[in-house]
Amino acid sequence: MNGTDLKILSGMRLEDIEALTDEMGASKYRANQIHKWIYFKSVSEIDEMTDLSKQFREELKAKAKVSNVKIKAKQVSSDGTIKYLIEYPDGECVETVLMRFDNRANLTACVSSQVGCAVNCVFCATGKRGFIRNLTPVEIIEQVLTIQRDTGLKVTNIVFMGQGEPMLNLKNVLVAMDIFNKDFQIGARRITVSTSGIIPKINEFAALQSQSTLAISLHAPNSKIRRQIMPIDNKYPLEELKKALLNYVKITGNRVTIEYILISGLNDTIQCAKELSVLLKDLKCNINLIPYNPIDNGVWKKPSNNSIMKFKCLLEHSGKKVTVRLERGSDIAAACGQLKGRVDDAKLNH
Ligand code: SF4
Repeated sequence: MNGTDLKILSGMRLEDIEALTDEMGASKYRANQIHKWIYFKSVSEIDEMTDLSKQFREELKAKAKVSNVKIKAKQVSSDGTIKYLIEYPDGECVETVLMRFDNRANLTACVSSQVGCAVNCVFCATGKRGFIRNLTPVEIIEQVLTIQRDTGLKVTNIVFMGQGEPMLNLKNVLVAMDIFNKDFQIGARRITVSTSGIIPKINEFAALQSQSTLAISLHAPNSKIRRQIMPIDNKYPLEELKKALLNYVKITGNRVTIEYILISGLNDTIQCAKELSVLLKDLKCNINLIPYNPIDNGVWKKPSNNSIMKFKCLLEHSGKKVTVRLERGSDIAAACGQLKGRVDDAKLNH
């Protein structure tokens, strides 16, 4: 068997590994051991699976290898955020970010769901690249395994906020979520799917009654402003989106997370804060404010601390829980809106 015919252990479900060990005349117990080495101990080589006999490891190496993705580039921010550029066998690359928050044991992986993106939000570096292709479920989960293999740490939270619109690759994203849940044993509530507002897919997601969090990239209190930065609003207007979110809450009982990028002079005014309070009044939601990170040659500017605080206070008066997202990794272009998936000018997004 040559190198390209080898099975890839990363991404194999326990039952797939059992089928492999069965084929090799070994027990289900061996399959369990291999599964742990892949998802929990995150080895890079079969030879590191030290509780398997040398002879069995040799037999396994003749049939399989751990992974076929490469780390093409890696940058570590002064705040501990790590951004990876991951290359798949066909040469396409995506970015994945590991965020560590001070005083918390949480290790959050921000994963990509597509190479490029068709949605074309104007504040987003990924959107500028256009849509290239969907990622398979294994390509999605490989991003997290790559982080675990590289750092030796176990990721505890997943956010689909990297490159791509997860709802436009929902079938594969749902399979990846199931692997995160069952194989990585990451609780459904620790997985967040973020969307620009693809209404039919939000309805589909609602019908699944998943316990995972739905986050909406809202970014404006009305369609007039939203269309200036998110062309998707022409297809799925804010008013209709709001109805879909009310329906989602009704079906799932879950609270929605509203993501709102504050851009100086565009959507960070007092008037916008008041309008947003009215819009979200009857929606069960938390609000996450994200100060804009300028991308190269972008026309939009970062808001002042004063306008961020005023905006936050006004929303809080309406009784909502409002957080300002800590800026992570902005010195390595890993902050929201900055990823792009290129080695030379890697920057992203959602
Ligand atoms: S913000 Fe998200 S949906 Fe919008 S272009 Fe970027 S990756 Fe696509």
